[in-house]
Amino acid sequence: MIDSHTHIYAAEFDDDRAAVVTRAQEAGVTHMVLPNENLESIPRLQAVQQQCPDVVSLALGLHPEEVHADFGEVLAQMRPYLDTLPCVAVGEIGIDLYWDKTYRDQQMEALDTQLRWCVDKNIPFIIHCREALDEILWVMDNFGQSLPQGVFHCFAGTVADVDRVRSRGDFYFGVNGVVTFKKSNTHELLPAMGLDRILLETDAPYLAPVPHRGKRNEPAYIAAVRDCIAGWLEVDPQQVDRVTTANACRLFGLALEGGHDNH
Ligand SMILES: [Zn+2]
Repeated sequence: MIDSHTHIYAAEFDDDRAAVVTRAQEAGVTHMVLPNENLESIPRLQAVQQQCPDVVSLALGLHPEEVHADFGEVLAQMRPYLDTLPCVAVGEIGIDLYWDKTYRDQQMEALDTQLRWCVDKNIPFIIHCREALDEILWVMDNFGQSLPQGVFHCFAGTVADVDRVRSRGDFYFGVNGVVTFKKSNTHELLPAMGLDRILLETDAPYLAPVPHRGKRNEPAYIAAVRDCIAGWLEVDPQQVDRVTTANACRLFGLALEGGHDNH
């Protein structure tokens, strides 16, 4: 399995990061993608990448909740890292209007700038979308045919929302522990997404799946997400494993295990 969205560089893992990586590998996680949050998190991503270069890949971007009045300056400082770090994606980027709409326009502009980075570098995006699908699709539609590939991580919404995203291109949907929550409707979205468009993720340290709900999440728990998806789609867990791993390899340009290169 590939954990396509995990923050194991966060301070929550400072005491036992090596053990967390070992547990992930023992649980069958072969690779992890680390999405960035702000300027301060970049050295943390770099440090984890240097500790376990074969196991992790980096994404670089400014998280929408980190977009404030000074975002232009922050993005100018961040952009050079895209050329010096081995990044497989721009992320996590997007718009979040759940808690605070103060910087809505700035978030839209920051998304536009960072989607341009994807076009320039020819790499995919990792989108964080919360209560903001209209705004995100509005920004994306300005790119027309030049819009790169990408994933909507932790996707929440309706079947109609899935269809709106899919009508824009062959985008992927990140599914995490939320699918195991009793009150979540994520399982209703899975058939509309299609297994060939689903990526497994944890969003660790957040959103631990049942039966770990409420605890610190970690990549090893991703098996619970895989098994839950398999149950709802009535397929073998191994098939979910195989197809979602191939999806992540295709999107992020990672080499499949066993020598199959997906390019
Ligand atoms: Zn995240």
